[in-house]
Amino acid sequence: MGQAKCYAYMYMKNPDKHTAEEKEIERSGMTIQLTYCQLETGEIQRIQREFSFEELEEFFRGLLDKYGAWMDYERDWKRLRDSSIKETGFPFPTYRKGQRKLAVAVYRTIERERKLYAQASTGIGKTLATIFPSVKAMAEGKCDKLFYLTAKTVTRTVAEDALRLMGSKGLRFKSVTLRAKEKICFLDEAICNPEHCPYAKGHYDRINDALLDLLENNDLITPEITAEYAKKHRVCPHEMGLDAALWTDLVIGDYNHAFDPNVYLKRFFSDGVGSGDYIFLIDEAHNLADRVRDMYTCRLEKSAFYNIKKKLKDKNKVAGKLRRTLDGINRYFIDLRKELEAQEKTSRVEADRDMVFNMLIMGFLNDAGQWLTQEKLNAHELHGEVLELYFDAMNFALIGELYDEHYCSIKETCRGDVSVSYFCLDPSGIIARCLERAKAAVMFSATLTPLPYFREMLGGSEEDGMIALPSPFRRERMMLIAHRGISTKYIDRERSVAPISRAIYEAVTKKKGNYLVFFPSYEYMSRVYALFSQAFPEINTLLQQSTMDEEERAGFLAAFDEDNPETLVGFCVLGGIFSEGIDLKGDRLIGSIIVGVGLPKLSMRQELIREYFDQKNGMGFDYAYVYPGMNKVLQAAGRVIRTEEDYGLVLLIDSRFGTKKYRSLFPEHWSHIKTIKDISELKSLLEDFAYFK
Ligand code: SF4
Repeated sequence: MGQAKCYAYMYMKNPDKHTAEEKEIERSGMTIQLTYCQLETGEIQRIQREFSFEELEEFFRGLLDKYGAWMDYERDWKRLRDSSIKETGFPFPTYRKGQRKLAVAVYRTIERERKLYAQASTGIGKTLATIFPSVKAMAEGKCDKLFYLTAKTVTRTVAEDALRLMGSKGLRFKSVTLRAKEKICFLDEAICNPEHCPYAKGHYDRINDALLDLLENNDLITPEITAEYAKKHRVCPHEMGLDAALWTDLVIGDYNHAFDPNVYLKRFFSDGVGSGDYIFLIDEAHNLADRVRDMYTCRLEKSAFYNIKKKLKDKNKVAGKLRRTLDGINRYFIDLRKELEAQEKTSRVEADRDMVFNMLIMGFLNDAGQWLTQEKLNAHELHGEVLELYFDAMNFALIGELYDEHYCSIKETCRGDVSVSYFCLDPSGIIARCLERAKAAVMFSATLTPLPYFREMLGGSEEDGMIALPSPFRRERMMLIAHRGISTKYIDRERSVAPISRAIYEAVTKKKGNYLVFFPSYEYMSRVYALFSQAFPEINTLLQQSTMDEEERAGFLAAFDEDNPETLVGFCVLGGIFSEGIDLKGDRLIGSIIVGVGLPKLSMRQELIREYFDQKNGMGFDYAYVYPGMNKVLQAAGRVIRTEEDYGLVLLIDSRFGTKKYRSLFPEHWSHIKTIKDISELKSLLEDFAYFK
């Protein structure tokens, strides 16, 4: 009714084009009609109300006053912010080595409205080197809003720390850190309707005051602060965070917020909203291609449809229609299973989408949508299950719309179930399209080697910049050794167990302290671990488990104490939870031993990626295996030297590390690597390592 009142006012306010008859009618006021139509039954309800011009004008001006308060707030804030930016310098007396170069490259990228791919080693201070020039560019009118996007929650706090530091030097800059709905929700389960949730009930009546209170009293809005103000004003914390994002200068969030087809921030990036003068700062960007591939890959399984079909017994017309559609889908899957069995296969890959299946899914969406509407208020026991499948099918249909030559379809049987997947072989085009939502983007990580590969995979083109900044730490503090005397190839694994166990022993006994050893698989790790702990029981060990909850992970890391008087060796999996994103500074970690070159496990999907890139550029094996593997190696190696006071050993074990191919992938700051072929050479190098004396 409010919206209609606005239209009526605008219509009456501009009578120039109205006929004399219309003007005559308007003089006595306007009749506004709202028409509600119940789609299922066709029932129509009309509500009519009369308003005089004066009433409409009063209403409209009231709205403008409320809106004006927000405009005033925004104008005053921007003035204050921009003058503080101009007065605030870099928060340290000097830049670290490489930091200024990165900051300049970021600034130029924003100025030229391009993309930048930056490999910046640990210790350069990349968070500050990306945020600081972006903030400066904002005061010069070069951008409106920054989005700092990360793969993990922990790196979000690093961005908050950088802002806190700049704030302590006088910068006034508003940021909000977003958290996933289920993590910030006050209830056990996020069921967002006013009947169920007291924060949803009346949310819109209270949100404006709540938001103003939040924004006026905070510059750095962490999820904890959002939750505190949401409780105080009894509004939904998730919606409040999103609303705050409209008014803050920087939004800190997950990759999802800009890239996920279902949860990206529609209020900023929807078609029709258009791209603003936004800047994307994308941290730990080596993760982005895989994350986006996962977001844009989808799968539907027979069991989900069959389970509902079996339970849905209702006799009404809408339920009957849904049951028939479910029957059709179930039959499709049964036929598919028979075909695969007849071909003696467990899977089949097709270049195109199966349009028959597509039609069945469209039918399901239609019928399930009608059923969900009908049963919404009846608390039907299957409502949750149907809704979940409806969303999965909707996602499938959505991704189907994007299906092109960068996709393939996989039909397979697995553990008694049958499924159809759309597998995203090459996410680079999708990333490029998502990056168009911003005016400029900076993708940065300590490990983007080789840079041209990452630029291609992360949606860049030859016109986009690349920069590799060497480590600021002194090289002599890291003893870097490649042991090429042991092959860890699959066929050599059995015979490599004993030599690896021995090499670990020699590496960790020269100096007491904490070490991590990374393996390409759990199985390999378990075999070496069994032998090592039996042969050297005097050495304390820890073993990563395939399932570890947050408490167990924290317990594992807590054992890496800097005052540990003995030696502790943690056995972990390369590419797992302990091989990146952990920060064991100082004596908490003095050595990292990496077994193998990190090649992803051979699988049908990895092989499909290999074939795709073989056809595209003849580099399938490198794109599917070598580069992702080497990235994991670099990440694991990067755990040792975290600050300029750190020192330690990085020992790579695999004959392939001695080859030209792998040496060409070593970053520039690895130029001092020593290659050995036996234990005696390892011993003598460690003897000479000044920091292990
Ligand atoms: S409205 Fe907000 S607080 Fe309520 S259930 Fe949904 S997410 Fe949770």
